[in-house]
Amino acid sequence: MGKIIPFQRPKKRPPPDRTLCRSGFHKWVVEKETAFDVKLGRLVTRSRCARCGLVRTEGR
Ligand SMILES: [Zn+2]
Repeated sequence: MGKIIPFQRPKKRPPPDRTLCRSGFHKWVVEKETAFDVKLGRLVTRSRCARCGLVRTEGR
């Protein structure tokens, strides 16, 4: 029968681009809409960067 086609490995995914993160442009994804910040004593929105995993909290 026909030729044996060698199995091609899928190309490795490029590593997440963190260049923007280093420049301060994070990809914020809201993790928790309302979290109580004990330090601030008020509700905050917690976001996490989808690329580097940095967490930030925003006051309302
Ligand atoms: Zn980031």
